[in-house]
Amino acid sequence: MTQPSNFKLLTNETAIALTQKLGLIHTTDSLHCNEIGDGNLNYVFHVTDSVNNKGVIIKQAVPYAKVLGESWPLTLKRAAIEANALIQFRSYCPEFVPQVYYSDEQLAITVMEDLSHLKIARSGLINGDPFPLLSKHIGEFVAKTAFYTSDFHLEPSAKKEVARYFTNPELCKITEVFIFTDPFLEEHPGEFEPELTGAAQSIWNDAELLLEVAKLKQSFESEQEALLHGDLHTGSIFASDTETKVIDPEFAFYGPVGFDLGQYTANLLFQAITRPATEKEEIFTYLKDFMVTFEKTYSALWNSTNKSPYSKIEGYLSYVLTKFKGDAYGFAGCELIRRTIGLSHVADLNGIEDKEARIAAKTATLKIGAHLIKNRKELNIPAVIEVVKQHTVASYSTL
Ligand code: ADP
Ligand code: MG
Repeated sequence: MTQPSNFKLLTNETAIALTQKLGLIHTTDSLHCNEIGDGNLNYVFHVTDSVNNKGVIIKQAVPYAKVLGESWPLTLKRAAIEANALIQFRSYCPEFVPQVYYSDEQLAITVMEDLSHLKIARSGLINGDPFPLLSKHIGEFVAKTAFYTSDFHLEPSAKKEVARYFTNPELCKITEVFIFTDPFLEEHPGEFEPELTGAAQSIWNDAELLLEVAKLKQSFESEQEALLHGDLHTGSIFASDTETKVIDPEFAFYGPVGFDLGQYTANLLFQAITRPATEKEEIFTYLKDFMVTFEKTYSALWNSTNKSPYSKIEGYLSYVLTKFKGDAYGFAGCELIRRTIGLSHVADLNGIEDKEARIAAKTATLKIGAHLIKNRKELNIPAVIEVVKQHTVASYSTL
């Protein structure tokens, strides 16, 4: 494969040299560097100063998807998209986004704030750590980014220019193939336990469901409502009990707001499904907090700063919110299914050691996913919670 001529993969030594050159850490002899990337697409260098206890993160994209192999070439432009999305998002939500110190489009690197004092939300949630503010923060993050990057706030020409910059066809293609297509078609199976074949078959044979997935895929491909994060799962969020930071927006593009809402919701649902009955309530609260905060924040922005000549027309805000939420439950359903029988799984499910329990949780996930997709327009959070309870009834009987 041809690589751009100026591209060079960093080493621990060149990452340290770059940190020094940028003047981000002044010490010269106590710097260390580790490559800590656990992601599928990129390298992440952690440069630390052991004397002053300071750190810097340098993320570098490579010209192919690590997980998909060199046969799946991938533009290096995604690094610049990620850096610029972080900068845009931080301009609207400084408290929830790391600072970008420097970026280099040729080398495909982003140098940013070290968030090592926080935990990746997915691992923390699996561990049972409490994150009392996580959903409120993410609800606010999605509401602000969705509103401020939309036609309700930006001038039409400015919005179209931002949308043009964030055209992200190669990363969107990953979503189109691995979320909206392959998991739903028998001829492109992902990876899953043979015990799930029957449940997968029910999905592949369900024409009513496939029609709804086709509509959701069409929405993902064609609606330019706002600048999305594009990969807002709990592995893209750092958190503690007081702080929340969103990372990794390399899939950022102009799309339907419900996609970000749905990704986060689905990744909470993995926890709601897999936790024992006595610990589900905590996650149900996270689900409610998220949607309530999103709606409250979005509505406040709408009422105070919406530029549309129709913003005060009775019913318009409620029409928009209803559309976002219906989309969200549908996209959440797609995420639940693709993480179960598609290519990229989640530790919430795969980490269940007991095979019977794991298969039961995955079967429930598939059924809940299908329900969410088909019934998305009639759902609300209490109804989603009821569906989770119904499909995980075995763990409820242990109460
Ligand atoms: P990928 O795009 O390859 O999925 P991520 O942006 O998710 O990469 O980063 C991979 C891992 O690197 C994260 O899970 C986290 O452990 C670490 N990491 C990324 N950004 C930071 C940061 N700003 N501070 C500390 N660690 C980070
Ligand atoms: Mg990533």
